[in-house]
Amino acid sequence: MSIKRILVTGGAGFVGSHLCERLVAQGHDVICLDNFFTSQKFNVEHLLDHRNFELIRHDVTHPFWLEVDEIYNLACPAAPGHYQYNPIKTMKTSVMGAINVLGMAKRCNAKVLQASTSEVYGDPDVHPQPESYRGNVNPIGTRACYDEGKRAAETLFFDYHRSNGVNIRVIRIFNTYGPRMHPFDGRVVSNFIRQAIQGEEITIFGDGSQTRSFCYVDDLVEGIIRMMNGPDSFVGPVNLGNPNEFTIKQLAEHVVELAGGGAGFVHKPLPSDDPTQRQPDISLAKANLDNWEPSIQLKEGLKKTIEYFRSINMDDFRAPTPNY
Ligand code: NAD
Ligand code: UDP
Repeated sequence: MSIKRILVTGGAGFVGSHLCERLVAQGHDVICLDNFFTSQKFNVEHLLDHRNFELIRHDVTHPFWLEVDEIYNLACPAAPGHYQYNPIKTMKTSVMGAINVLGMAKRCNAKVLQASTSEVYGDPDVHPQPESYRGNVNPIGTRACYDEGKRAAETLFFDYHRSNGVNIRVIRIFNTYGPRMHPFDGRVVSNFIRQAIQGEEITIFGDGSQTRSFCYVDDLVEGIIRMMNGPDSFVGPVNLGNPNEFTIKQLAEHVVELAGGGAGFVHKPLPSDDPTQRQPDISLAKANLDNWEPSIQLKEGLKKTIEYFRSINMDDFRAPTPNY
């Protein structure tokens, strides 16, 4: 296998740090670019003394000039509390970040992959969601800065592909969890685990009947790398996620069973535009990515994540936004 120069934007984040780790282990020259809005150097600290790893503090809304063979564009706050903290910046990050990586890819003749999201389907009225479904997004709601930003980024990727021949890949990631999630990001898995191990009440928003399908991060990273290395004829968009669907109430019960937490459940108001159901149809990924499918199921993945949360000192993490 030839050594490639690879840029990972948002590489210090939860998913990005696992991706960097895998690419460094494969021997590639990896540049991690991040502004640390929702992450800390902690996530990539163990990679800093590798000679094939480099860390740059930079914001993707400003142009950057590098020479690389491949770009994974992950820079964007992903937790609702994080992307709603400064919604205009979230939209800029998606749109200007996409323009900057696509311009760079065009100049360097690099292959570029966009981390899109199941949020492009909004609150879906087709279930499970295939890539052909065009979604049900509220363009003026509180989630729109993220959903519409990611939709605009997909448009830019396809226009650079059609108009300028840029070699693109677009993946739509469904709820992913695992070690190195920020303990105060407010996402459901990190919240429930943190609350359980700190003996706090588990906060269920609404009646807990809304569903999500949870993918363990290692399975996702395998899918991301397969997509980047797959044939140029398959550019996506492709769903990557675990099709096993749970209600939020069921998730809470699993977490309590595995992590303890005798403080019980407390119901809080459902955030606006919270999707009622979400499950990926992954037949396209299976057919095109060498039979890719997740192998780590929820309880096994939760155990690994709980182990990680028990191993960290929560005081080392700053909370960039209020969580509730
Ligand atoms: P994360 O918040 O842990 O990581 C995002 C990283 O991007 C952070 O390190 C953050 O500091 C960085 N970043 C944010 N704005 C930036 C900017 N303007 N310039 C440079 N860096 C910036 O979130 P994550 O879960 O690792 O998500 C990674 C990517 O995957 C995101 O693009 C997200 O939209 C996408 N995604 C994730 C999920 C999931 O469930 N984890 C689901 C769908 C899509
Ligand atoms: N949720 C919850 N309690 C929490 C955090 C989230 O019940 O403490 C719910 C939230 O309302 C949503 C689901 O869990 O229905 C997933 O939320 P998350 O923020 O993880 O991601 P989303 O899929 O909504 O982007």
